[in-house]
Amino acid sequence: MLADTLPPDSRLVEFPLVDSHCHLDKLDLAPYDGDLSAALQAAFARHISHVVCIGIDLENITTVLNIAQQFPAVFASVGVHPLYRESREPTLGELVELGAHPKVIAIGETGLDYFYGDGDLQWQRDRFLIHIDAARQTGLPLIIHSRGAKEDTLAFLRERGAGEVRGVMHCFTEDLDMAKRAIDLGFLISISGIVTFRNADELRAVVKALPLDRLLVETDAPWLAPIPYRGKSNEPRYVVEVAQKVAEIKGETLEAVARQTTDNFFNLFSRATR
Ligand SMILES: [Zn+2]
Ligand SMILES: [Zn+2]
Repeated sequence: MLADTLPPDSRLVEFPLVDSHCHLDKLDLAPYDGDLSAALQAAFARHISHVVCIGIDLENITTVLNIAQQFPAVFASVGVHPLYRESREPTLGELVELGAHPKVIAIGETGLDYFYGDGDLQWQRDRFLIHIDAARQTGLPLIIHSRGAKEDTLAFLRERGAGEVRGVMHCFTEDLDMAKRAIDLGFLISISGIVTFRNADELRAVVKALPLDRLLVETDAPWLAPIPYRGKSNEPRYVVEVAQKVAEIKGETLEAVARQTTDNFFNLFSRATR
């Protein structure tokens, strides 16, 4: 079976979108005969100009860096995910060294997840602090995963980040108060396909209340495919549906959302070049 082609959206010709967070090493490539470049081509055909492939542990980082190296339109991040208990702990030196790679534009994904994590989560907090230190030392932004951990996430960023680290709250699902406080700390808020889900009224209210110049869009592929693809394996090309929903909520055009979120992306991730 080959992937169905989706018509390119002519509204995006001038202002293409960026998928600011996905896991290209984990995509289901069966519809593309196992060919990652075909999956990326399908995204480029819909006017997605760049994709960030996110590191989740030290085991997958070589694959992530190879993918970024292979495709000019793909950037990478390096970090160890807060839910990967079994992953080897990175040292500060390791993260800083990996962060020097020219295609690496951020440290993460990192953060705190008290929703799925259980037991004593001190290891999560220790791991998060090392990533904040790495961001300070490299000057790279942080990609934060935070669930059910609002106060600790903000406190750690404020205290350990000391006003020196910026970044993004990826796949945001927390409340408006958290979004505003994160923005005050210099963070952007990234919206995923969850915004299209039927039961996501609270998230839609957050999107409506936030200024467009603080937002990014992402797929978090292969997870969280937006409606009408919910239940299928997610891909970077579906970031168009996420942006379309953001536009609808904000009463903006798709072009306006594409133009602003792409500008926001390149302003934050200064190592990324258009
Ligand atoms: Zn995440
Ligand atoms: Zn992720």
